[in-house]
Amino acid sequence: MFLPLITVICLSAALPAQNEWNELLKNSLAPKDAAAVLELKENKVHFYNEAQLLNLHRAGSVFKLITAAALFEAGLQDMEADCHGEQTAGLSAGQRCWLRAGHGHMDLRQAITKSCNVYFYKVSPLLPPGALQRQMALWNLDKLTGWHGEEARPLLPPALTAREVADCAIGDCDNLFVSGLTLLKLAAILSGNWAPAKDLNVPIELRHAMYRVVEQGTAKAAKDSAYQIAGKTGTARKMGSWRYEGWFIAFVPFENPRYALVVYTPDGQGKDAAAAANKLIKAIMERGISG
Ligand SMILES: [Zn+2]
Repeated sequence: MFLPLITVICLSAALPAQNEWNELLKNSLAPKDAAAVLELKENKVHFYNEAQLLNLHRAGSVFKLITAAALFEAGLQDMEADCHGEQTAGLSAGQRCWLRAGHGHMDLRQAITKSCNVYFYKVSPLLPPGALQRQMALWNLDKLTGWHGEEARPLLPPALTAREVADCAIGDCDNLFVSGLTLLKLAAILSGNWAPAKDLNVPIELRHAMYRVVEQGTAKAAKDSAYQIAGKTGTARKMGSWRYEGWFIAFVPFENPRYALVVYTPDGQGKDAAAAANKLIKAIMERGISG
């Protein structure tokens, strides 16, 4: 006979917390942007404009983290390469880095921090056949996250030609599409503090590289003096268009993360999504919402 009373108490306690999250997200983001924040311990997601995060997109340079994981697994993590702004040889000849002047001499950590396309064009052909697909399977990218009943199932390539490997290595191929929730799952896995991914062996160097992305790389706009943030930007071609859209994934705090998040901006680049995340992360950390 006590059960109904308990149910009422639980509901009344949950509603104010959810309203608080809704207000926090609305007050921290522009109306056109979208975001989802995962409480890692509770495995609970809070959405803003979630429709944008449920359908499929290119991942852009966020996918370089998967490529980097493949490089680690193949023992290629110490490869170095020069970026002069354009790939001049091989199957990707003529493809440009987003920084036309070039990034100069890069190792993997610097290539993630600066999101250098040419580095990944040069190094990804060295991966063993099937290495990228293997990582996608390890990270369960083909699976729904289960965080929303209307999310689209990712479209992953069953096989990749050598040219497609290089394109997919930077998240810009025509047969690899994921949802924003898939990218949120990536952030959760990379945090190392999300229970469903505890068995996945993510190189610690990837987390450190994500910290440098925010401290001194493409996501500097997300940096906050009070909190240590790790993240990765992505600028992706929209489906059926040559216009761009921007992604930023992150986990925070860097030590013992409590939140993973994804921010999407429909008419910008990754750096714009990172800038949009700055106010959101500050609000999350300062209010210390846990419910
Ligand atoms: Zn470059």
